[in-house]
Amino acid sequence: MRVLLAEDESRIVSFVQKGLSAEGIAVTVATDGAAALALALSEDFDVMVLDIGLPVLDGFTVLARLRATGSELPVIVLTARDSAQDTIRGLTGGADDYVAKPFSFGELLARIRLRARPDPGSSAGPGELHITAGELRLDLARRQVAFGDAIHDLSAREFALLRVLAEHHRQVLSRTQLLEHVWDMDFDPGSNVVDVYIRYLRQKLGAQAIETVRGMGYRLVT
Ligand code: CA
Repeated sequence: MRVLLAEDESRIVSFVQKGLSAEGIAVTVATDGAAALALALSEDFDVMVLDIGLPVLDGFTVLARLRATGSELPVIVLTARDSAQDTIRGLTGGADDYVAKPFSFGELLARIRLRARPDPGSSAGPGELHITAGELRLDLARRQVAFGDAIHDLSAREFALLRVLAEHHRQVLSRTQLLEHVWDMDFDPGSNVVDVYIRYLRQKLGAQAIETVRGMGYRLVT
């Protein structure tokens, strides 16, 4: 995996770079918006981590210009914890996710793993119509899942939830990650809606298909 980190604070650059390197993830750093945009357009990254407060071009401008080129590079915006308005602007402006500063490395890493372009072979890329996860096959056009000998029709939410799990086959996803990916950002984080939909999926696919990892979340183990 290759990450483009657009951040001008050397302290943050250093701790993110160290952490990602330790995970075996390649990091390229840009310390201003113009450099970040040039790199994003000329090299192949799996995800960009984009600070909003950057010199030369701010993060919003970088994002707008990137999307104007048709780029689908996943972008995680770094934002100050108290600037919710900025965050909403960032997300509607084509960001895929955000992390509020100050953040823990683990929090950022989880977002990177969730948002980065999936490895080829493990799931569908843009424009593909099927996702395969072990013995499970999702038909994106028909919103159906084939598992074992059966084909199941799923509701839109069930399908969206299963798709995220399938795109991260065998990886643990937290309730918060699932909530934010499948439901609205402002959904009550205390809600048990994720657990309810996991139950619906288990009723269709069998209880063994989705494993509960205590204190962490869920993973698809088909
Ligand atoms: Ca900054």
